[in-house]
Amino acid sequence: MRKLKMKKKQTKPIRRKCHNCGKMATNPLVYHLVPSIPYGEPIPVYSKSGPKTKRVDLKGDMKITAQNYCDRECMAEGRSKLGV
Ligand SMILES: [Zn+2]
Repeated sequence: MRKLKMKKKQTKPIRRKCHNCGKMATNPLVYHLVPSIPYGEPIPVYSKSGPKTKRVDLKGDMKITAQNYCDRECMAEGRSKLGV
C-alpha cells in the first residue's frame, strides 16, 4: 500500500482590491486580459526554435492586464460593465 504524502499547503492568503466593487478580496480571482490581434494583422506563428516570450513579459500593445475580482459573480458583473 502506498503511503499518502501529507503535504501541508502553507499558502498565504492574497488580498487584492476587487476590480469591480473595490472591496478587498481574499484570494481573488485573477482575470488576464490578453489583447487580441487586430484583424488583418499577421498572426505570430509559434516556433519551437524562436525566442520564448512569456505572456507577462509582453510589452506595449500586447501587454496583458490582470484584474482581480472577489468571485466569479463579481467578475461577470465587472466584465459586463466593461462591455467585453
Ligand atoms: Zn468584487
